[in-house]
Amino acid sequence: MENRKILIRGAKAIVSCDAADTVYEKADMVIDGQRIEAIGTGLAEKPEYSRGFDEVIDADGMFIYPGLINTHHHFFQEFVRNLVTIDYPNMTVPEWISRIYQIFQEIDDEVIYYTSMTAMADLLKHGCTTAFDHQYCYTVKSGKRPVDRQMEAAGQLGIRYHAGRGANTLPPSAGSDIPEKMVETTEEFLQDCERLVNLYHDPKPFAMSQIVPAPCQPMNCYPETFRDTASFCRSRGLQMHTHLGEGECAVMESRWGMRTPAWAENIGFVGPDVWVAHAWELTKDEYELLGRTGTGVSHCPTPALLGGFPILPMKQMQEAGVNISIGCDGSATNDGSNLLDAMRLAWMAQSWYTKERGGSITPYDMLKIATVNGAKSLGRADLGSLEPGKAADMFFIDTRKLELTGALHDPKNLIVRTGLTGTTARTIVGGKTVFDGTRLTGVDEYRLAEEGERVCTRVLRQPFPAVWTV
Ligand SMILES: [Zn+2]
Repeated sequence: MENRKILIRGAKAIVSCDAADTVYEKADMVIDGQRIEAIGTGLAEKPEYSRGFDEVIDADGMFIYPGLINTHHHFFQEFVRNLVTIDYPNMTVPEWISRIYQIFQEIDDEVIYYTSMTAMADLLKHGCTTAFDHQYCYTVKSGKRPVDRQMEAAGQLGIRYHAGRGANTLPPSAGSDIPEKMVETTEEFLQDCERLVNLYHDPKPFAMSQIVPAPCQPMNCYPETFRDTASFCRSRGLQMHTHLGEGECAVMESRWGMRTPAWAENIGFVGPDVWVAHAWELTKDEYELLGRTGTGVSHCPTPALLGGFPILPMKQMQEAGVNISIGCDGSATNDGSNLLDAMRLAWMAQSWYTKERGGSITPYDMLKIATVNGAKSLGRADLGSLEPGKAADMFFIDTRKLELTGALHDPKNLIVRTGLTGTTARTIVGGKTVFDGTRLTGVDEYRLAEEGERVCTRVLRQPFPAVWTV
């Protein structure tokens, strides 16, 4: 693939999301291997391309956008979707945890493989080209294999994959709400991080896989897990991640005399190499702490809405310098992995508070949150926008469809504003078409779906019939 020259010809518009917010009209794009070489009009006729191209993609009638970047997920939860018995909006968090962990304890590495395939297929078909997953489900049956199985799935699908290696180290006897069998020691966790970094972490531009050490949440880990993770990551130049500000601050204050942001700062788990999921229970001063230290926030609108949690004050957070990105979150609190849908929900939720908060962000701001800001949180200067020198990660929308008629004058705001949440007309990762608008090109989708259904039944539905009974 490295030196293949590709021409994308005659796009109706290319929304670059570059610093000048350039929108190219009637434009071509030249791709060299993984890298964008040029964007502009009439490129095909230029003498330097007289030798021709290995592939020409006709983009007549297409709007092209930078690939979306998902910054929080738990793929392993895909097989607990659409369950009336796990009614998140009507459950308390402890009720939900005690029910869901009974099932999580039985997950094996086959479940990890097929759930990862399911989530990443959904992501790719809806425009996401780089996915981060926070994998913290380590059971007796899964052993240490989950991230290895996820890497296998990501490679087959052709998605760019950042694996968060999670862990819970605090046993129930010390106050955590994680089953004993799923608790690991800090040494075990960091040894496995080291193994995964050696196997899969590629620090170079256009990397297809990276590793992100990611203790699950401060409430269910010893402080040294976070302290040692930060020093390990900083010695290896890795990003790090956790859950923060999702309702645990009171417990943290009673345990350590500090709310979680102050605790994290005290322990060294803040900085431009850290981003956290949720952060909906934080105060203005705490958002300023995140902004001042360069710590990013992954906003996951679906679980926030389903759980009835506060809606982030995004404008205020951005004014405080917080880099906000977006995530689907795990399927136990979001029954789909569609970032287009998440962008739409997040923007609508912001608009709900427009009057009392002095204005809302624009639909185009939401697109940049899902692209430019996501790349920044993952530490990827080569992703997030369509510019020469950056990775050729993008998706196409077919504007010739009748339902878009009359809305095409503003490509930047179109997707979020009109609620375009269906599958893309094409998704390209690193110059390679991984979804052609009809099928995933790297895998036999129907065969995988059938196998995945069988694994779900064998490992989860049969052992827990009451959970799946309608
Ligand atoms: Zn989460």
